Amino acid sequence: MSELTNLYDQVRVCQKCDLAKGRTNAVPGEGPENAEIMFIGEAPGFHEDRQGRPFVGAAGQYLDELLALIGMKREQVYICNVIKCRPPQNRDPLPEELDACKPYLEQQIELIKPKVVLTISRFAMARWFPDKKISEIHGKPKKFGNLVVLPMYHPAAALHQPSLKRVLEEDFKRVPQILKELASLREEQAEKPKPPPQQLSMF
Ligand code: URA
Ligand code: SF4
Repeated sequence: MSELTNLYDQVRVCQKCDLAKGRTNAVPGEGPENAEIMFIGEAPGFHEDRQGRPFVGAAGQYLDELLALIGMKREQVYICNVIKCRPPQNRDPLPEELDACKPYLEQQIELIKPKVVLTISRFAMARWFPDKKISEIHGKPKKFGNLVVLPMYHPAAALHQPSLKRVLEEDFKRVPQILKELASLREEQAEKPKPPPQQLSMF
């Protein structure tokens, strides 16, 4: 059993916060262990709680459409949430719930080692940009060591607000270019053992 499936087993029986009481199923996350792209949402909703899978409701269908815009399928990316059990009436997670659940997300990031993280919720964005507003930084990739983080509007927010939908789609279309720049940077570094410090155009 891989470390990741071991983690899923822990999450499914976790009792570290009160959200365990109301859940039908915990939703650890899913996708290839070697995914280059990782999406991090907020928390399971009604359908996710029923099925034990992330983003399977309306927001999930829209996420599939967004992936199709850049020629990708859900099976190629890793999808998870900051909080693994559904909060009652989909309310915001409480600080103690965020604290209790945090180690699971940290382990997922560590094990998958994505090249690009797309934060698609406020709480995921706060992991890297604690003091920033989504309206100011959406669609702008930022490098944190070997990882690029791209803050995005939540697909559910875009579904409710047509003007955001256009913004989200434009931001999404930047993902292939980011992957390309990262690949050429890696190539450059492989060619020259000690490359001079270089400023990337995008990050
Ligand atoms: N919204 C989220 O943030 N996560 C899901 O899994 C579904 C909807
Ligand atoms: Fe455990 Fe996270 Fe579920 Fe709370 S939300 S019970 S910490 S898995």
